[in-house]
Amino acid sequence: MKIYPSKEKKNEVLLELKKILIHPSLTDRGNFIEVKNFRYGYIYDKLPKIENIEGVRRIEIQNKELLPKSYSTNCYFKRPINTNRKFIIAGPCVIDDFNIFYQTALKLKEIGVDAIRTPLFKPRSLPYGYEGMGVRGIEKLKGYKNEINLPFVGEVLDPRDVEKVLDVFEVIQIGARNMKNYPLLKEVAKTKKPVLLKRQPKSTLKEFLFSLEYLLKYGAKKVILCERGDDISNSKPSININIIKDIKKEIRVPIIADISHSAKSREMVMRFFRKSIKYADGIMVEVSVRPELSPIDTKQIIDIDEFLKIKRSVEKYNEEI
Ligand code: PEP
Ligand code: MN
Repeated sequence: MKIYPSKEKKNEVLLELKKILIHPSLTDRGNFIEVKNFRYGYIYDKLPKIENIEGVRRIEIQNKELLPKSYSTNCYFKRPINTNRKFIIAGPCVIDDFNIFYQTALKLKEIGVDAIRTPLFKPRSLPYGYEGMGVRGIEKLKGYKNEINLPFVGEVLDPRDVEKVLDVFEVIQIGARNMKNYPLLKEVAKTKKPVLLKRQPKSTLKEFLFSLEYLLKYGAKKVILCERGDDISNSKPSININIIKDIKKEIRVPIIADISHSAKSREMVMRFFRKSIKYADGIMVEVSVRPELSPIDTKQIIDIDEFLKIKRSVEKYNEEI
């Protein structure tokens, strides 16, 4: 970490820093003060105080200081130790018709996936669209848990709903729009459930890591990151492969690629799969036995045949590993 003080106040800043940072080493490097040798999590409680020292003009933190390489939130989905088996989260864009959901989930289970998408709460850009079954769907969805017997991954939008989904979602998804919804991040983290955190379009690696840091600071133990491209409401397909590569380089938290919301049309899903599978730890993909009947994202949901191609390809990767 580097702390840039104003020239006039440098000595006072140094004195104040020594009161706040007891163990790390502080070195005066001329126009900045270098802080070294602190452990993961150490600076977070102290940052607000440091920021407020009179004379501190700017603070620089390196990504690796947020989450040192040695720190790892292990992946929720079982992978043989020391392998990088790629995992698959698949399912509908939204649960609208439970029969279609059930048929889809059974097919996916038969083909082999690691977790099922079970969206009940949908964030909509335009406030007139279908928002999912919401709380009403929770009890009904629970009825399918035993038979499907795979982890359910579902997004929560409202901190007040977090408690309600604890028995139905094994993994709580924080959607792209909510990556910076800090009250929601805290509420979800406190449950200690595994979390799937999606990157907000156009947000930087650092902002993504800060949100991850929130989750870890407030109690989350298992986090999976997800890259989903830089566009929400238009139809411009994109995926930021560099973010995936950077995450892999800098930290040991799994990151998957959402090949549906990034591709935006089913014709592009395979292309986005090929682009990202080499780098990502797994994929998220929207699949349904009746894509044309989905009230949301109808154009991008793939059918079972298309999913089979993706599954075979993932298997090839996994055999090579
Ligand atoms: C989703 O995965 O259901 C979703 C709404 O995606 P995103 O938050 O990435 O837009
Ligand atoms: Mn969708």
